Formats: sequence, C-alpha cells, structure tokens
Amino acid sequence: MKPTGDMFLPRRKTFLAGTALERVFNRYLTPISIGVTFIGVVLVFMGPVRAALGLSASPAVGGSTNPAGQSQAGLASLSNASMLEPVEFNRQLVAFTTIPDRPRRSVGNYTVQSGDTLFAIANKFSIDPKTIFWSNDVLQDDVHMLQPGMELAIPPEDGVYYTADGVRTLQRAADEYKADVNAIIDSPYNELAGYTPEDVPPWGMKILVPGGERDMNIPNPVRTVTDQTTGKVVSGFMPGMGGSCPAGTPGGGGTGSWVRPMNDYMITQTFYAGHSGIDLGAPVGTPVYAADTGVVIFSGWNDWGYGILVVLDHGGWTTYYAHLNSKAVGCGQLVSRGQYIGQVGSTGNSNGAHLHFEMRWNHTPTNPAGLIGF
Ligand SMILES: [Zn+2]
Repeated sequence: MKPTGDMFLPRRKTFLAGTALERVFNRYLTPISIGVTFIGVVLVFMGPVRAALGLSASPAVGGSTNPAGQSQAGLASLSNASMLEPVEFNRQLVAFTTIPDRPRRSVGNYTVQSGDTLFAIANKFSIDPKTIFWSNDVLQDDVHMLQPGMELAIPPEDGVYYTADGVRTLQRAADEYKADVNAIIDSPYNELAGYTPEDVPPWGMKILVPGGERDMNIPNPVRTVTDQTTGKVVSGFMPGMGGSCPAGTPGGGGTGSWVRPMNDYMITQTFYAGHSGIDLGAPVGTPVYAADTGVVIFSGWNDWGYGILVVLDHGGWTTYYAHLNSKAVGCGQLVSRGQYIGQVGSTGNSNGAHLHFEMRWNHTPTNPAGLIGF
C-alpha cells in the first residue's frame, strides 16, 4: 500500500465512482481502523501510566490534567473510532484532504474525417502517431485501416492504451510495455487507486500506460516456405493467397538505380512507423511504372488491405505498388525499369485514389524518399 499522504487523492475518485466503493473499504478501511484503534489503545494506557509515574498529562491527549478524566476521553475516542461506519469515516478523511480542483481528465475520442491522415490526427493532438496505433487495436498497426467515421481513442499523453484481459497483472503489463508500474497505478487517467503491481485489473478495463511502447507489427506478407520434397528453403510470396506467384519464382536482379513510379502525383502520406511506404495521390487511371528492373512475384488481389497489388523482386529489394485500379503485368514476368505496370486506383483499404508505394530490403520496409527523389 502506498503512503497515506498520496493515498487520499486517488481514493476520492474511487469513492465517487461508487461501484468500486466496497473494494476501497476492504483495502483501506480495515488497516485504517486498526491504526486508529491502536492509537486509541495507546491513549487509554498512557493516562494511567503517566499518572502512576507522576507526570502531568500531555495537552495533546485531552487537555485535562485529571488522569481519570483523561482515560475516559481516551476510551470515548476508542469506542467512537471502533464504531464508526466506514462511509462516515471516509468522509471525515476526505474533509481533511486536498481535493484536486481540476476537472478529471480522460482519454478522448476522435471521429476520423474524410481526408484525414494518421499523421495529421497525431499532430492535431500533439501525440506520437505510434500512440494512436498502440491505443487502437482496430488499426492493426496499419495506417490503411484508417476509415472515415472510425472512432479513435486519443490518449492525453504518449503511451499505450490497452484493454485488460482479466489475466495479466499490472506488473506484467508494465514489463511488456517497458513502463513503470507505479506510473500506471498513479496515472490520473486510470481508476487503479488501491491496486498493487500484482493485482489483475478486471477484463475490459481500459488502462493507460504512460510512456509505454511496444513493437509495431509490420504487415509482412512474405513467407519463407520449405519445399517438403527437397527440404530446400524457397521464398514464397503469400503462399495460398490469390495473386501470389508460385513459390520459387526466380527473383530478378535490379539495376540498382531507381526511377519514380509516377510522373505526376502529390505526396499524401510519408513513411513512418505504421506506414510502411509512401502515398502518392493522383487521379484514378494515372500510369504506374516499375521503379527498377525486376520479376513479378505478386500480381492480383491482396486480402491484407493492399487491394490490387503488384510486387516486383529486384534481388534483395522488393517494391510494392498497391491500391491499383488495374494491373498490366503477370506472375513471373520480367519487367524493365520504367515499364508501365498498372494504373492508380483506390482498391483495398484506401481513402481516395493514390499509389501506396513500398520499398523493402530483405522484407524490411525502407523509406522510399531516402532512395528516390520524390
Ligand atoms: Zn500508404
């Protein structure tokens, strides 16, 4: 249990919450009652002891120099303390406590508007875009899941806002999110007064982890598969998914020199955590070109939100062309740098016509703007 000085502020909130009242009493009132009883007993016995020793009574005990009267006062306070109803006792304590004047702050909500980007929303609320991902599982760490009308939780400060599973202790959550467990318990945004690190918050409780973080789940559709007959590892691209080319489709070596995949565009979203590529806005039908020479290893509809997708293998590097309206190349086809491969569209999880362009080095998304002058 925390020192009593700090304890009163969060208790006030829990007291108001009503439903948690009983738990608060169970947690606090018993130790407090024992403490008060102990003080009462000390007062009762101090009187006779002092009288026997011929000492004058301390004014703090009752203001009386009469040992007998003092003992009665001590007894009275003892019985009062013992018989107080918990609610009465709580009110007395609150009366001596400084209650915060500020209105209770909380995690806010934001309804996604048409044309919003995750980066712009984060800027609007002065928080890190990652915080929005870490507070909204519905986004699945993929900015293209953002849809107009979607309700997003907006924490007042950076961290992780998670929903308790009824199993994990606060300490385990703190460890997983690399945060201080006391910062979670003490946060004015949480209803965790009286909790200890080993307590398990009830299922469904929303909890803010100030300063918390976790790894981003980068959508990585590439799978390494092993050929069961030869035992050899072959690189397959989304095995079993329509549009995926057969495992073992030979990769092609690129020239190592890149060209822009489009001539006319407007950058609508840059590369950042949660956005594994760059968005180039342009009207539906705008031509899209291969950024370098390579082999088509995916061509078709993608269930991961990319819509109609073309992926080229350049040997180590792969490039992704997503949300296409139509594609002009097929599996295993060798395409040369600058070759026309499809048209801009808005298929899959897309908010307006644009090309989502990715460059991955050994499957790891890399900022295209660092390699191609956009
Ligand atoms: Zn994108």
